[in-house]
Amino acid sequence: MPYDLVVLGSGPGGYSAAIRAGQYGLKTALVEKDPKLGGACLHVGCIPTKVLLHTAAAWQELLHGQDQGILCDNPRLDYPKAVERKNQVVAKHAKGIEFLMKKNKVDWIRGYGKLAGGGKVEVQSPQGVQTLEARNTIVATGSEARMLPGLKADPEFILTNIEILNLTKIPKSLAVVGAGAVGVEFASIFSRFGASVTLVEMLPRAVPVEDEEVSKELYRLFKKAGIRVETGAKVGEIQRTSGGVSFSLTLPGGKSEQVEAEKLLVAVGRKPNTDNIGLESTRAEREKGFIKTDQWMQTAEPGVYAIGDVVAGSPQLAHVATREGMIAVGHIAGKPVEPINQQRIPGCTYTEPEIGSVGLTEAEARARGHQVKIGKFPFMANSKATILGRHDGFVKVVADEKFGEILGVHIIGPNATDLIIEAVTAIEAEATVETMMSTIHPHPTLTEAVGEAFNAVYGLAVNA
Ligand SMILES: Cc1cc2nc3c(=O)[nH]c(=O)nc-3n(C[C@H](O)[C@H](O)[C@H](O)COP(=O)(O)OP(=O)(O)OC[C@H]3O[C@@H](n4cnc5c(N)ncnc54)[C@H](O)[C@@H]3O)c2cc1C
Repeated sequence: MPYDLVVLGSGPGGYSAAIRAGQYGLKTALVEKDPKLGGACLHVGCIPTKVLLHTAAAWQELLHGQDQGILCDNPRLDYPKAVERKNQVVAKHAKGIEFLMKKNKVDWIRGYGKLAGGGKVEVQSPQGVQTLEARNTIVATGSEARMLPGLKADPEFILTNIEILNLTKIPKSLAVVGAGAVGVEFASIFSRFGASVTLVEMLPRAVPVEDEEVSKELYRLFKKAGIRVETGAKVGEIQRTSGGVSFSLTLPGGKSEQVEAEKLLVAVGRKPNTDNIGLESTRAEREKGFIKTDQWMQTAEPGVYAIGDVVAGSPQLAHVATREGMIAVGHIAGKPVEPINQQRIPGCTYTEPEIGSVGLTEAEARARGHQVKIGKFPFMANSKATILGRHDGFVKVVADEKFGEILGVHIIGPNATDLIIEAVTAIEAEATVETMMSTIHPHPTLTEAVGEAFNAVYGLAVNA
């Protein structure tokens, strides 16, 4: 009997789509080439990095506990134990996904899946090749780390997100090439564990998709934390040395110097996994390797959908992959679904401090001709931030003066990745700045800083 839906890839896009299809009563199969379900996000992305970030934060609390009267003689970091916990968290969640497949009657098919045209999917495994009949297919094969030209990752010195998560020792020094979300998160983790970190970015600023003021603040705080950050800088040929790696670094003024590090992390973006999956047997089109879809995530081949990191023009984020899965399955099942509005996607970067943002940056809003009004509130003036001892950063609201439309909100500071959801909800519900000004924020919480930033649009913040 043919499947109503075959999903290729079990990352947050694929497994969530399979579950939703099961909930709608569609006969569904999920094909995964790796032995575990969960994709890059669970195994080598979102989850393991956040476990290590949490441990790094706990370690720093312990090291600097004396201000709160917490004295700890001779604190030690058992890094292999931290890695073991990370692995346990990942394994627990992989089991959770297996359980959800059973619960929703989704067939988990182990092997490498390929579209074979005419509604067929071929799955190759050590047991041989099996052909599945599918009324609909979702391609959710995700992405992998891009490498610098001529370079190959290895478990010891030249690392991607995969190898760095398997280190069993904190390196004395780490060079990170690329200051996007992945690069800055690893810089933040390993610097707090005691590595001497050099972060290099070719573009003029770190986290270049964020509001300029957020980039500046992160730069300032990383430098304060002892991370060397070089932006507008070019990495030359990378060589292996007896102690690690060495490369020439050309700084914006043209000055060149040699940088030595025990390990090098390459974090220069993610390449979509769209080769060798049989796309040529369909009418699906690609753009620089990414699959083109319509607003329902359908490709040019009816019945073939694409979601997540493989999709052209879509930010490579787990929550975007999941939402795209809901849209594709809703469309297949004939349920009412809303297409994604790009301005309402939260972006989160889990550094110390965190970054959460949604909507237009100030520069984008001005470029689009809005009459921009800015409201800004520093965490320095928030009592909960004082209680936590985490005063760095601010909340910035970008609004249109005419009707008080909220165009964007940019937060850098404690728990910014949680705080941003208030702004996402406000924009989704088309609330104005005035609505948010009269929304009661509980005291003492970090959310008050968000409320104050909305008040600051009209110069009415009370505490700053
Ligand atoms: C270090 C790091 C940290 C990150 N942190 C965050 C974060 O905190 N928050 C966030 O939102 N995003 C984060 N991301 C991005 C996030 O991981 C991705 O956006 C997300 O995993 C994309 O989901 P996906 O379902 O498209 O694909 P993936 O998670 O990449 O999963 C794809 C799956 O498809 C399988 N597959 C591939 N080809 C085939 C085939 N032919 N047949 C069968 N199976 C196949 C793969 O084995 C894999 O399991 C992070 C990424 C990295 C690298």
